[in-house]
Amino acid sequence: MPPKIDEEKCEGCGNCVDYCPGDVFELKDDKAKVVRENDCLDCGSCAEECPTQAITFDE
Ligand code: SF4
Ligand code: SF4
Repeated sequence: MPPKIDEEKCEGCGNCVDYCPGDVFELKDDKAKVVRENDCLDCGSCAEECPTQAITFDE
């Protein structure tokens, strides 16, 4: 399942960009965006490394 980002919570730290093995995220205007959701490998790293719990997954 592709990740979703709560932009109210995102601080633009870049962890999700750095840790994602599928290169799913990009930072734009200091907010993470899901740009390649089909490349998500469901590893969970992005949510684990996000300091503000901004990343969730659709059920
Ligand atoms: S679950 Fe893994 S592959 Fe999917 S977006 Fe997060 S870090 Fe990337
Ligand atoms: S890890 Fe969380 S706070 Fe950091 S850029 Fe990604 S979504 Fe935003």
